[in-house]
Amino acid sequence: MATQQQQVPTFKLVLVGDGGTGKTTFVKRHVTGEFEKRYHATQGVEVYPLGFHTNFGEIKFEVWDTAGQEKFGGLRDGYYINGQCGIIMFDVTSRITYKNVPNWHRDLVRVCENIPVVLCGNKVDVKERKVKAKSITFHRKKNLQYYDISAKSNYNFEKPFLWLARKLAGNPSLEFVASPALAPPEVQIDADLMNKYQQEMEQAAALPLPDEDDADL
Ligand code: GDP
Ligand code: MG
Repeated sequence: MATQQQQVPTFKLVLVGDGGTGKTTFVKRHVTGEFEKRYHATQGVEVYPLGFHTNFGEIKFEVWDTAGQEKFGGLRDGYYINGQCGIIMFDVTSRITYKNVPNWHRDLVRVCENIPVVLCGNKVDVKERKVKAKSITFHRKKNLQYYDISAKSNYNFEKPFLWLARKLAGNPSLEFVASPALAPPEVQIDADLMNKYQQEMEQAAALPLPDEDDADL
């Protein structure tokens, strides 16, 4: 019997950032992706197929996640080759991880010249935030999108994927019409504080850019 298999548009998503910033925690939140992940032996990475339902049908991101190789320097070209979109992650409780963002960006665009990239500041659930909104300017210089996220609370989990899906589809009216199943939150976030962060981000966006990448860190 013939099966009606429809091709789901699928995109390789390269996930980079310093070790310990929460990349693996983030990608594992998506329940079916975690269930269907495959180990890519030649690259030594896990590939997580994350599906989303949009008003134009299904879309799938094949998220590449390292097995920790980033802790020992850069990643091999094979990690980046054929990447169609990217997420660069840092940890808002660790300034050095934000300082290293330009290096991750340079490595990424060296291989993947002109792909949509989202910068994510993770762990915004932690009260002692070190990298404040006004310090986060790198995305503005490089035309990336930025989101505060908290992998452990699922805060803004879908935002980076929605932004990338719109870019890849070339359609700003693309919407997610159903939420993927996510692992239950492990921490609670303070909604008032998140609103305050968002306001700070909007105010910062209105300020002129500093000259130095690491100015006012
Ligand atoms: P990776 O090296 O970038 O893959 O980072 P991991 O996913 O292994 O996470 C590193 C550490 O950060 C672990 O102890 C996680 O539990 C913790 N972590 C990850 N995401 C969050 C988050 O959103 N909030 C908090 N508070 N901790 C997190
Ligand atoms: Mg990891």
